[in-house]
Amino acid sequence: MTSTVPTAVQHTEAQPPITMFGPDFPYAYDDYLASPAGLGQIPAAEHGREVAVIGGGLSGIVAAYELMKMGLKPVVYEADRIGGRLRTVGFDGCSAEGGELTAEMGAMRFPPSSTALQHYIDLVGLRTEPFPNPLAPDTPSTVVDLKGESHYAETVDDLPQVYRDVMHAWNACLEEGADFSDMNQALRERDIPRIREIWSRLVEKLDNQTFYGFLCDSPAFKSFRHREIFGQVGFGTGGWDTDFPNSILEILRVVYTEADDHHRGIVGGSQQLPLRLWEREPQKIVHWAHGTSLAGLHENGEPRPAVTRLHRTAGNRITVTDASGDIRTYPAAIFTAQSWMLLSKIECDDALFPIDHWTAIERTHYMESSKLFVPVDRPFWLDKDAESGRDTMSMTLTDRMTRGTYLLDNGPDNPAVICLSYTWCDDSLKWLPLSANERMEVMLKSLGEIYPNVDIRRHIIGNPVTVSWENEPYFMGAFKANLPGHYRYQRRLFTHFMQDLLPEDKRGIFLAGDDISWTAGWAEGAVQTALNAVWGVMHQLGGTTDPTNPGPGDRYEEIAPVELPED
Ligand SMILES: Cc1cc2nc3c(=O)[nH]c(=O)nc-3n(C[C@H](O)[C@H](O)[C@H](O)COP(=O)(O)OP(=O)(O)OC[C@H]3O[C@@H](n4cnc5c(N)ncnc54)[C@H](O)[C@@H]3O)c2cc1C
Repeated sequence: MTSTVPTAVQHTEAQPPITMFGPDFPYAYDDYLASPAGLGQIPAAEHGREVAVIGGGLSGIVAAYELMKMGLKPVVYEADRIGGRLRTVGFDGCSAEGGELTAEMGAMRFPPSSTALQHYIDLVGLRTEPFPNPLAPDTPSTVVDLKGESHYAETVDDLPQVYRDVMHAWNACLEEGADFSDMNQALRERDIPRIREIWSRLVEKLDNQTFYGFLCDSPAFKSFRHREIFGQVGFGTGGWDTDFPNSILEILRVVYTEADDHHRGIVGGSQQLPLRLWEREPQKIVHWAHGTSLAGLHENGEPRPAVTRLHRTAGNRITVTDASGDIRTYPAAIFTAQSWMLLSKIECDDALFPIDHWTAIERTHYMESSKLFVPVDRPFWLDKDAESGRDTMSMTLTDRMTRGTYLLDNGPDNPAVICLSYTWCDDSLKWLPLSANERMEVMLKSLGEIYPNVDIRRHIIGNPVTVSWENEPYFMGAFKANLPGHYRYQRRLFTHFMQDLLPEDKRGIFLAGDDISWTAGWAEGAVQTALNAVWGVMHQLGGTTDPTNPGPGDRYEEIAPVELPED
């Protein structure tokens, strides 16, 4: 790992790479996407048929793109803007030479283990570069500031011994409590029986356990002080104590697949990915003329507006009403927005989903998250302090209000960006009532305590940009995070694309996106669930996959997620 807490298994030349291949549903989405056989075929009689895709985030756009390639006519509805939680914004009042300065309000760093996501990043020709996480190899320096004491580090070895003790405690705790090395190896080797054997045991044992409870149960973490430091400094991306109440299964999925490691950012911003897919004219396309794109299939090149009503009509069709009053009926619809939208912002028929699925939708739990970015004149943090020879300022982890501060360089002497603060859950709620400027003032004060000799304000060249995802009307939270006892709900939502298992009058609407994924908060899950829904729609319309390239539904029986008893 790039952080204070390395994983037990290191990536070496001899090792197969780690990918987000399970552990819940070990299906090779990357191989499925890479196969020249394609994702499947729809009977010619259905070509040109309209299907609804609700939500123009990554999941919706990937689903729409693949359905279009199969010869269907996806009708995309988007309430806010294409990209959803891949939201890249500019700075008002600040024009930078040599390219626009941008800030990532949602996803900003992507692990190489996100191989289905990477397929689309490569497809649209985007470049990635190392992301400056704490203590990552490309991060010039990191400051850890806890309880008023600051430590400057270029590698973990520069930190006091207690931090390395915490790192060893985490490794030991994962080994003892969650077969870490075995699972990491099984995932690398794509050893499905082994993955399923380990995971079914752990799901049964740990579904009722919080992240914090898991730490407390480990002899390696018997010291409160160690748990406290671990919560504040954490692993990979920084402090994880805001995740302490969540199910430990959520954390294990992240660490096994190294989702929190070796991160890369998308040069120019992550929102380019869905925007480029929207405009892209696929080389291989069925039914449509060469040169067809999603934009080209939509009036004025824009998605339709917000969905306001969803109901079933005769023939088990899905009827969609949008904010313009337009009403259309489809044989299939994919819903990719956050599930809570179905409870409040969209008027829904109870008949849309079986009652157990409604319960799972209602029980969905979100993390809150806030960020604030400022544009600055240059990467002044790289100036060396005359006395100490250290960087003037560093990537900073602290228990103060800011929690994580990231320094985003665009090359020497070019304007740059600082993410003054990135927070989750309670830490995010503390910012909620404050305006962008009020937030910035508190952040500058916090950072002023850590860097008394640095005048950050002097370098700011434009207005701050900020977001609190919990306060965004079309999101209501940052991303799903299951609580203990949520495994069964998660399983129902994820497996919803297998509609032959549902009563006939509950088919035709397919859930996809971050909320449905096993790895919420990682764009890979949005892509994987989109591909499940594409398979579901194809299957419902009488389509099939090529025998050389079985889809997620074709392999389902073999790899279905562990089922826990309901009674
Ligand atoms: C703060 C934050 C940090 C993150 N960090 C990372 C990271 O570093 N790495 C990573 O891989 N992932 C990260 N993620 C997760 C990643 O952003 C998501 O997994 C992914 O973008 C989700 O895509 P989606 O299409 O499933 O959902 P969304 O992007 O939410 O798309 C759903 C769309 O539905 C639209 N919608 C809502 N209601 C309606 C309606 N009534 N009608 C029509 N449309 C509607 C919304 O406007 C939205 O555009 C982060 C997310 C957040 C919020």
